[in-house]
Amino acid sequence: MQVPLLDLKPQYHALKDAIDAAIERVVASQGFIMGPEVEGLERELAEYLGVPHAVGCASGTDAILLPLRALDPEPGDEVVLPAFTFFATAGAAWNAGFRPVFCDIDPVTFNVTRETLEPVWSDRVRAVIPVHLFGQMAPMAEINALAGERGACVLEDCAQAIGASQEIEPGAAPVRAGASGDFGAFSFFPTKNLGGFGDGGLVTARDPELAGKVAKLRLHGGRQMYQHEMVGTNSRLDALQAAILRVKLPHLDEWARARRENACAYHGGLDEVAEVRLPEVMTGNFHVYNQFTIRVEQRDELREHLAGEGIGSGIYYPVPLHLQECFAGLGGREGMLPETERACREVLSLPIFPELGEDRLRRVIDAVRSFFGYGA
Ligand SMILES: *Cc1c(COP(=O)(O)O)cnc(C)c1O
Repeated sequence: MQVPLLDLKPQYHALKDAIDAAIERVVASQGFIMGPEVEGLERELAEYLGVPHAVGCASGTDAILLPLRALDPEPGDEVVLPAFTFFATAGAAWNAGFRPVFCDIDPVTFNVTRETLEPVWSDRVRAVIPVHLFGQMAPMAEINALAGERGACVLEDCAQAIGASQEIEPGAAPVRAGASGDFGAFSFFPTKNLGGFGDGGLVTARDPELAGKVAKLRLHGGRQMYQHEMVGTNSRLDALQAAILRVKLPHLDEWARARRENACAYHGGLDEVAEVRLPEVMTGNFHVYNQFTIRVEQRDELREHLAGEGIGSGIYYPVPLHLQECFAGLGGREGMLPETERACREVLSLPIFPELGEDRLRRVIDAVRSFFGYGA
């Protein structure tokens, strides 16, 4: 029995009729650019996420880039972000005209905290990007407080965390990822928890003016054709993608539930394996497990053992961003961000997709246990 890290086919087959009908609807209308499907998805996601404004765009990368552009950076302005994230977080900051400043992570959650942000924070910082890595939110109360004190904007990178939530104030109602910062950036890349049939993204915003600015920037800087108030770009969400995503959105919570049950089974099966550090959930957080990421010292050996058993796994991320060749000019050195560098050596993501099922889950658990000499 092969166990892939991710299999997208069962999700499509379960919704095939509805998705095919949605695609046909768009094709029949020949309305591929903007229009009712995009507006419908923006409205439905704004409601689901609990945000006043949602703006579709071409990718999760652009969902980071467009709001940062809307801040009109001046040369030397900085954005603080973790060195332990997907490259897009930093690439978008760079392309928006900012100098990325990399900070370390909390070793338990893999996320930034006030404590990891403060040491790198200069008076040139205009924005901070907490990345809700693997599907668990970074601690937003302390991050929003820090940014508020320093007059910086908060852009939540929610690419891996759609549907995640946090009790930001103890005892208060949970707030979804993307709803507590100034902006939220979402990705509909096929491997995310809400995946399209290609690229797509969405920006959430609290402030109507900034939301309007992002909406213009994605359409060459103007809401009306041939009237350009600023220089934007072409970063629209395709109507076809929006139509597909509208079929999938009502199922997002049930998929999150299945991911969380799989995580629970991993905890049950691997708890006693002392060599494996399982992901921990911060009090008040609702984790949606885009990835189930363990830490092991013998990471590469375990990964090889799993591959030999036909089990897929992934390393997110093998190289920290402050040590990427393209950012060498920013002065990153080995040893600078020790928790990030250690995570890069130790992390391994195991299959967690909703349709994994008990038998395949059991196989992964048994394979990890046997590697460390524990019985089935
Ligand atoms: C996927 C991802 C992005 C980029 O999204 P795309 O849609 O692939 O452009 C950004 N940040 C993080 C943390 C991601 O996982």
